Amino acid sequence: MINLENHFAALGEDFYQLKNPDPVSEPYLVDFEPDVARLLGMDPDAVRNLDFVDYFGGNKILPGSNPLAMAYTGHQFGSYNPRIGDGRAVLLGDVKNPDGDDWEISLKGCGPTRFARGFDGRATLRASIREHLAGEALHGLGVPTTRSLAVVGIRDLIHRETPELAAVLTRVARSHIRFGSFENFHYTNRPTLGKNLANYTIHRHYPQFAKEADKYRLFYRHVILRTARLIAQWQSFGFVHGVMNTDNMSIVGDTFDYGPFGFMDAFNPNFIPNHSDSNGRYSFARQPEIGFWNLQKLGTALGALIDEDAIKQELAGYQPEYNRVYRSIIASKMGIQIADSAFHDLGGALFQLLYSNGADYTNFFRRLGDFPDGNMEPLLAMFENKKEIKDWLAQYRSLLDREDRPPEERRESMNAVNPKFILRNYLAHQALEKAVKEADFSEVVNLRLLLRDPFSDNTELFQNLNLDPERYCADTPRKWIGMQVSCSA
Ligand code: AMP
Ligand code: MG
Repeated sequence: MINLENHFAALGEDFYQLKNPDPVSEPYLVDFEPDVARLLGMDPDAVRNLDFVDYFGGNKILPGSNPLAMAYTGHQFGSYNPRIGDGRAVLLGDVKNPDGDDWEISLKGCGPTRFARGFDGRATLRASIREHLAGEALHGLGVPTTRSLAVVGIRDLIHRETPELAAVLTRVARSHIRFGSFENFHYTNRPTLGKNLANYTIHRHYPQFAKEADKYRLFYRHVILRTARLIAQWQSFGFVHGVMNTDNMSIVGDTFDYGPFGFMDAFNPNFIPNHSDSNGRYSFARQPEIGFWNLQKLGTALGALIDEDAIKQELAGYQPEYNRVYRSIIASKMGIQIADSAFHDLGGALFQLLYSNGADYTNFFRRLGDFPDGNMEPLLAMFENKKEIKDWLAQYRSLLDREDRPPEERRESMNAVNPKFILRNYLAHQALEKAVKEADFSEVVNLRLLLRDPFSDNTELFQNLNLDPERYCADTPRKWIGMQVSCSA
């Protein structure tokens, strides 16, 4: 199947609990992504092997793997929790693929560990499919993310608000180390172990700094820069993570640990996808600020390795990097090359208009690509007050007139950054209903295939699947706008 090592295991048992996945009865395949198999240097046909679901459901252990539940703590909704850790997941190990890239493989939902705090160690089928689709969708958009090899369903029912089907997700990540992995050693006053973790992280994930005298500072700087860029990308696609606790923040700056996330439908800075986030700590508009807050917590945890002034100086690099990347992405979404203050003002006015009209965020930008020669009716239909949007478009035109780019070229460049398809919550929800109520996973597969290349019309795919593209790219119907999900999804 695939041969693993587990480098993290060498750090010693202060860093984890050795724990094999619990066996399950009658595991079955829900969905599988062949590209992720290839990424691992695995033959995608391995999915046909009868024991595939045993390996990725928890019944068999892959050769060379050394399953362990990682220890970490962290700040959840602003408060420090000294007891977190992998309560229901294990890191199986890592593999170097034929391109020389290292990937870690973990199973999520494979039974309780020492960190389970009385919970059952399982994950719902719904939440597992949501994480599977989300990882692949963000990857398709070009956003750094963990990915998903497969979802394996299990027959045992688990208890949430109601009895739920359960599943095991195979997560593939560059790293499973979180900000909270460092907080763990800081708050338990074990600086030597914190230093070992930093050295390990640098060795595996930031090797370019390993020989530098100020390697810890450089490492921290680059976590800051990657996080700033990641969140700028989230904002540009209207992606809201939902649970930006420090234990869900990846040390390599990937989108990590999907729970009650959501893509924004109508533009609304106050969008909160997480049903239990009643104060809106993790709303769309607050993500950039929360990213900074989390990086401050990481800085505190690295306090034994980097001096206080240096931490402050590095943190000061966050906002400028965020602004730089965000501005450049919004300019390319608008098809504008001269990103000066006139552009800035026009962008601000646009967001006001989108908000006051409840316009679909994704589709507005896609439709803007048709300006000025294409059919503008679908765009104009998004606004109640036609005069306002026409005035805005007139100003937009005057900015475009400053640049001599052929409209067709601009349209192409805009379509390459403005997706036609996103993982709309209601589409995911409908796919989940089919999966859970009818054991029909076809809609999950359709969404996964479609979201591989969300910028293209996917004409051939729609023909092959005999599906109507309109259903997948239409504005979210009013009753589904702003839909929230619970942690068990
Ligand atoms: P999450 O919201 O998935 O990031 O989880 C937060 C913490 O709760 C982590 O330590 C998880 O391992 C733990 N956890 C969540 N659900 C369960 C469960 N059903 N069984 C055991 N631990 C869980
Ligand atoms: Mg988590």
